[in-house]
Amino acid sequence: MQVGQVSTAGASHVGQVRAVNEDAWFAGRRLAVIADGMGGHARGDVASALAIRTLSPLDRRAPLTVDEVLRALERANSVIVDEGASDQVGNAMGTTVTGVARVDYAGAEHWLVFNIGDSRVYRVCADHVEQLTTDHSEVAELVATGEISPEEARTHPHRNIVTRSLGIAPGPPADTWIFPTRSDDHFLLCSDGLVNELSDAEIFDVLRAEPQWADGAEVLVRRAVAAGGRDNVTVLLVRVAPAPVADDTDVSTTPRPVIEAS
Ligand code: MG
Repeated sequence: MQVGQVSTAGASHVGQVRAVNEDAWFAGRRLAVIADGMGGHARGDVASALAIRTLSPLDRRAPLTVDEVLRALERANSVIVDEGASDQVGNAMGTTVTGVARVDYAGAEHWLVFNIGDSRVYRVCADHVEQLTTDHSEVAELVATGEISPEEARTHPHRNIVTRSLGIAPGPPADTWIFPTRSDDHFLLCSDGLVNELSDAEIFDVLRAEPQWADGAEVLVRRAVAAGGRDNVTVLLVRVAPAPVADDTDVSTTPRPVIEAS
């Protein structure tokens, strides 16, 4: 199904503790992506900027394919590895990357959600936000084994340790999820600086209370900074305009395969 116009809104803040904002983001018509950089001597901002610079040209591809996105992620990894190797002082650097892309798949338009690291993509539903991505982080593994609760993960001393990121060789595999586009789709992308300060319920409450949906990104970032701002905070909202009623006739004909869910 061809969906309506995609609108986006983004906001980012350095927070209250860090000296440099190492988050980077891009939002276009068919691609929205967040990268949360890490590295010594503020090299994280270089890594996240390289990731965004490598991925953002995909927004001009039409149709865009899953393969093109995956290849761009591999290119971004190579670029960051090369940049790290050229550093005289040997500062390692890396970045998370997560996003949504409108791709042509099985002859129809789908969303591709991709993730490497602990930035997140949520679907904004009528009564809650649903995390679509799986964090590649030490605390996510501790939550999965039941050693700590999701609430404890938000303040755990190891909450910043990611287990997968761009900037290592060989490059890490991206998690991917594919599903058909719908006329009222609404996604939230964020760096961990948001979810370390606000619970999923608090995030939803902010979005629900905001009369203009696009202001939600700015408001969420402000709330996270006010709640402690221990890390850089970045929020992107992606929303598809409601389609005319007659446009919903072919909803059930679209295949819903999952090509990879690791
Ligand atoms: Mg972060």
